[in-house]
Amino acid sequence: MKEKARAARQEQRIIGLVPTMGAMHAGHMALMEHARRECSTVYASIFLNPKQFAANEDLSRYPRPLKEDVEKLTAAKVDGLFLPSAEEIYPLGFSTYVAVEGLSDKLEGKSRPGHFRGVSTVVMKLFQIVQPHYAYFGRKDAQQVRIVQQMARDLNLDTEIVVCPIVREPDGLAMSSRNTYLNGEERKAATVLHRALQAAESEIGAGVRDSLQLQNAMRKVLQAEPRARVDYAEIVDVETFDPVARVSRPAYALLAVFIGKTRLIDNMLIEPAGDELLVEI
Ligand code: AMP
Repeated sequence: MKEKARAARQEQRIIGLVPTMGAMHAGHMALMEHARRECSTVYASIFLNPKQFAANEDLSRYPRPLKEDVEKLTAAKVDGLFLPSAEEIYPLGFSTYVAVEGLSDKLEGKSRPGHFRGVSTVVMKLFQIVQPHYAYFGRKDAQQVRIVQQMARDLNLDTEIVVCPIVREPDGLAMSSRNTYLNGEERKAATVLHRALQAAESEIGAGVRDSLQLQNAMRKVLQAEPRARVDYAEIVDVETFDPVARVSRPAYALLAVFIGKTRLIDNMLIEPAGDELLVEI
C-alpha cells in the first residue's frame, strides 16, 4: 500500500482516502463519491479495528460482506482497496498509541472506554501508510471526526479532513452497518432517533434556545418508544463537546440509544444564522 501510494504521489496525483470498517452502505458510498470528485486517486480501506472494540462489543459478529463491498467499490470507480489483517496493523510487540486527550473521554468515549484511542491510533497509521492529501469522514460519527481533526492539527499532519453529511434511509434512520442487527420491529422502532432530532428541530423553529428544553423534547419522543433505551441525549458545543446551557454558537444534538441490544447513534448540527438557527439533521 505504501509503495502504491508513493508511486501515485510521484505522478502528482491528488490522493483521497476513505477509511471504513466495511459492510458498505449508501453513507460509505457518498464518501467515495465525494472523494472521486475531488481526487485523482481514491483509496478505500476496510479494517475492523480490534483496538476500538471493547471485549463485550460486537467485533466478532460485525458484518463482513467482502465480495459485495468490492463490487460496490469497483462500481464507484475507487482506485484501490487497502484490506490489511489485524496482524499487519498490530504485529506482535506493537506498543505505540495516539491519545487525543479530553475529547476522547466524553460521550461516546465515556460509554465506550478506549474506543477513541483505538480510532485515533488506527487513523494515524492509515494516514502514515497512505499519506493522503484528503481523508473523508461522515458527520454521522461527529465526535470521531472532531477527534481526528484535533489529531491532524496537534500532530501537524498533511492530510486535510473532509466531513460529509449524514446519509439516511427514506424513513430517516441514519445508514449504519449495525442496522443489519435490527429485527423487523426494532427496525421500525429505530426511526425514533431521527424523530427525536426532528422534535428538537421543531422546538428550535419555534424559537427555543434553552438546551434543557431541547433535550426534554428529544427525551419525550425517545421515552415513548418502548424498545428504546437512552444512553445519552445531549446538546453540546461543536468544538469542546461539553454540554451547553443555551444554543448561541454552533452545537450538536447528540443521541446514543439502544434499540433492543443494538446501540445506535445519530446527531443534528445546529448553527446560528443571523437571528435564526439553521438545523442540519
Ligand atoms: P464505519 O464503516 O462505520 O467505520 O464508517 C466509515 C465512515 O463512513 C465513517 O467516516 C463514518 O462516519 C461514515 N458513515 C457511516 N455511516 C454514515 C452515514 N449514514 N452517512 C454518512 N457517513 C457515514
